[in-house]
Amino acid sequence: MKTIIRVIQKDTMEAVTAEAAEIWKRGGLVAFPTETVYGLGGNGLDPEASKKIYAAKGRPSDNPLILHIADRKQAEGLASDISEAGRLLMERFWPGPLTLIFPKAKNIPLETTGGLETVAIRMPSHPVAQALLRKAGLPIAAPSANLSGRPSPTLARDVKEDMDGRIDMIVDGGEVGIGVESTIVDVTGEVPTILRPGYITEEMLRDVVGRVAVDPAVAGSVGAEVKPKAPGMKYRHYAPKAPMVLVEGSCDAVAEALNRVLEKAERDGKKIGILASEENAGQYRGGVVKVVGSHKNLDCVAHNLYRVLREFDREEVEMIYSECFGGQAFGQAVMNRLKKAAGQHVIRAEEAAENEM
Ligand code: AMP
Ligand code: MG
Repeated sequence: MKTIIRVIQKDTMEAVTAEAAEIWKRGGLVAFPTETVYGLGGNGLDPEASKKIYAAKGRPSDNPLILHIADRKQAEGLASDISEAGRLLMERFWPGPLTLIFPKAKNIPLETTGGLETVAIRMPSHPVAQALLRKAGLPIAAPSANLSGRPSPTLARDVKEDMDGRIDMIVDGGEVGIGVESTIVDVTGEVPTILRPGYITEEMLRDVVGRVAVDPAVAGSVGAEVKPKAPGMKYRHYAPKAPMVLVEGSCDAVAEALNRVLEKAERDGKKIGILASEENAGQYRGGVVKVVGSHKNLDCVAHNLYRVLREFDREEVEMIYSECFGGQAFGQAVMNRLKKAAGQHVIRAEEAAENEM
């Protein structure tokens, strides 16, 4: 299949949205920018289109898709029940980077929901996403537009790298803003529950609905006893090709420990990537050092994270060591993605030198 790539700007908006809507209506796939990451969209009411999405991504078919809508009212036809908490959160955060889980309406195929009786819905705020969704007039099922397991795409170039020849069209709307996927909140139960952290933080949600719970899988400890409620959270995700390790400790301790690792790697002729902060980058002697942002500005870290992971892939590093970032508020989402990229592999600075390469 030949993948059409269209740059979307003011003067091409009408033609490109019409072309994309046409592809969706006949069951094809179009990747497009949202404020979080690029999505890979297909008609969410068409089971065949959903199957094509799973095939294009190589995504396990038990990992449900998020429906994207242009208008709050559309949610009423897609959810069989909208709880009070759901309504309040929609009113406050839509359009925006918040996905809500509702009981699904009958017309949504199980192929779209990965066999679940619930459905994930989001109304993106990105002007290109909004224009495309309005033109299509359909709920568009759209997971992130990466091959399953790879870092989510934040640029059309990333989408092309993974999806060229596998989908009908890529709409290039430039670099996305936030850079990590939406916050997912289950509003089907008594207490709204965060299934995946994102730009909309626990505190922001609590301001609107009072009590909020966090699914234990968010902290990263997915094992036999912790089964995540968002099926996608159980897979190693967002991951670069090289193994990655997060290194905890003070800036100086991390730099000192990694410099010892770098010395050894140089002796062994190994290419090491260091995912560094602005504050610490100057301390590393050797390796492929990439600055992802400042410890004081996690918005910037999130914005750059997936692009930097993909750059390490292009440079073919054999192992990546990363500093730890955040933990609180939006930092919860940043750490969650970093830990997933590292397959939950976190070590103390003192252990870095002994870490198997
Ligand atoms: P992606 O679109 O690639 O960001 O992935 C969508 C995420 O939403 C995955 O982690 C899914 O497991 C999660 N998700 C989608 N639908 C549901 C649902 N009905 N219940 C729980 N999680 C869901
Ligand atoms: Mg994804």
